[in-house]
Amino acid sequence: MATRREFVKSIPAVGTAFAVGGRLVLDDSSAQAQGAGAPLAGHFHPKGKAPSEFTLNVLRQAHGELPFGDTRDFEEQKKGLIAPMQDLKITADAGHVAWDMERFQFLDKQDEFDSIHPSLLRQSKLNNNYGLYEVIPGIYQVRGFDLSDITFIRGKTGWIVFDPLVSKEVVRAAWKLFQQHVGQGLPVSAVIYSHTHGDHWGGVRGIVDEADVRSGKVPIIAPVDFMEFTVSENVYAGNAMNRRLFYQYGLLLPASPHGYAGQGLGQAVSAGATTLIAPTRSVEKPVEEFEVDGVTMIFQNTPNTEAPREMNTYIPDMKALWMAENVTATLHNIYTLRGAQVRDPLGWSKYIGEALYRFGLEAEVMFASHHWPRWGNARIQEVLRGQRDLYAHMNNQVLHFANQGVTINEIHNVYEMPKGLQDKWFCRGYHGSAQHNSRGVVQRYLGFWDCNPTTLIPLSPSDSAPLYVEMMGGADKIMTRGQQLHDEGKYLLASEIVNKLVQAQPQNQAAKDLLADIFEQIGYQQENPGLRNSFLAAAYELRSGIPQGETATASPDVIRAMSTELFLNFLGIRMDSRKAEGMRFTINLITPDKGEKFIIELENATLTNIKGFLASKPDLTLMINRSDLELTMTGTKSLEAQIADGTAKVEGDASILKQLASTMVDFDPRFEIMPGTKAGGVVAKEDPYEADERQPIAE
Ligand SMILES: [Zn+2]
Repeated sequence: MATRREFVKSIPAVGTAFAVGGRLVLDDSSAQAQGAGAPLAGHFHPKGKAPSEFTLNVLRQAHGELPFGDTRDFEEQKKGLIAPMQDLKITADAGHVAWDMERFQFLDKQDEFDSIHPSLLRQSKLNNNYGLYEVIPGIYQVRGFDLSDITFIRGKTGWIVFDPLVSKEVVRAAWKLFQQHVGQGLPVSAVIYSHTHGDHWGGVRGIVDEADVRSGKVPIIAPVDFMEFTVSENVYAGNAMNRRLFYQYGLLLPASPHGYAGQGLGQAVSAGATTLIAPTRSVEKPVEEFEVDGVTMIFQNTPNTEAPREMNTYIPDMKALWMAENVTATLHNIYTLRGAQVRDPLGWSKYIGEALYRFGLEAEVMFASHHWPRWGNARIQEVLRGQRDLYAHMNNQVLHFANQGVTINEIHNVYEMPKGLQDKWFCRGYHGSAQHNSRGVVQRYLGFWDCNPTTLIPLSPSDSAPLYVEMMGGADKIMTRGQQLHDEGKYLLASEIVNKLVQAQPQNQAAKDLLADIFEQIGYQQENPGLRNSFLAAAYELRSGIPQGETATASPDVIRAMSTELFLNFLGIRMDSRKAEGMRFTINLITPDKGEKFIIELENATLTNIKGFLASKPDLTLMINRSDLELTMTGTKSLEAQIADGTAKVEGDASILKQLASTMVDFDPRFEIMPGTKAGGVVAKEDPYEADERQPIAE
């Protein structure tokens, strides 16, 4: 049995939060075996339970309905294997383990597990393959080194790299394996970032020297506005998103039959150093054709699909179609459980349709940034058509129901994918699920309100729960009935009433333990890893509390990618406006090296900024080069120190900066989600003007 301390080693940098790239270090004090029910021997948690007969039935029935006769994914996954990776662990430069496939070996030891949905297990077995593959002569992939795949395409002078993973150490290891077998010692001649998510660029420094990019020797190509959208998607709500990742990605759960069983897109997110080098060439037009190291490529921009900025690429001479993350072996997220703006399924479907008719009618191989390639035009068309219809159906049929009055609180129980799509493995929900995506579509078009005034401005759960508990006859009655419902396998009903008790009595450990048992069974029953992890993560925190932690440092590359405006906007979010009542001032900020100017105003307990303007009578003018400001943003040198040594110049009332600093708050990523799980603790103090940015989120 793994200890909680061991779990922590599996936490990727991307999921931790309080300084960027920090990794939690847990203490072992709060996990104590106690409470009712029979704990399961071999379960990672002392309070963990075996799957019930009801759960076993659900999984058995699912098994019978799944298209196990279709084994093409397994053939496609292993096709072209050149060399498996021998080292199951890859060490980070900082000394910890950046990548660990050893912990997933249990998945291959049995054909079935009674606590893992058979469809999820199948996907995780496919993702357990780890090595170098030939896609076609001239195109190679290293798969299983991270959540995503890295691809190498033969150019005239070297290798064109698509999507260099999350961290530089795993990219370096992938490059080494590639060079041992295929690379012929040729250098990287270009890099292409298919989209803005962190698992598609974070390892770039593992393979490219920035000097070669600056000199123009190695171009980096990306969709238009790449840098703007790379960081912006997860700055404003970054702390909340990182906290929610502990649920979606099950970051505290050990890899085990009763815990974490893979993430669907890949096994996990690597935990090495995240890096970023800005692109040198943008693809601006909807469709653009040019040569990259002698290879003709046709780029198709697909904004606001899987990512805010993304592009597919067709290589006509090889009849090879790169579908980025727009088409992979899963139903993708329309709504993302870690929190993100809801995506546009109709637009996404149309871009797939366009790719089908522009390139898909002649392509002979299709590959992507997750999972494995598809060979042969018939198979490519089958997958493109299925994925096109998957997103369109979800959009259309959900809105069809919404137009008949089905609400966001019902749609997941009403919406079903057509049988034809359910029978296609690549349309099943290993990242998105029909349940949470259908709710997302309603959210996109109609928002959170179901139009019943009871839910319009409701009481907070903790305020309404005591009345429920009183009216239900008190805690004992709820526990008895909750246990009964649990024992009858009616887990969702049981969670309704036991959750009320936990909301009313956060210190009632027996209630928390019962709710954990209920969540655990619901978790075991899920096909979708995000849903499974969310229920199992909540069970973990109800049983053990939220772990304590310390942090490491941020990724300077990522912080440098924040625009000055984004940084100032985020200061407005970090400010606790209750501390700013009565303050009023105007600051002119000038960054001479970038030629930027801003008016920053604090008025009405609100911090605003407007780019491109200077006030005629500011209380303070602050002049600092953007390159120096970055030292403050990364926490390397405080603004105070920059002013003291003359790097930053001020005119006017400099005490304003102290006032502003006094309103800034450091966000704590260990905030409570389930009641009564907060153990307390101290967060390392950050500089008031630090860009409290979290790691960009992989997807
Ligand atoms: Zn990805």
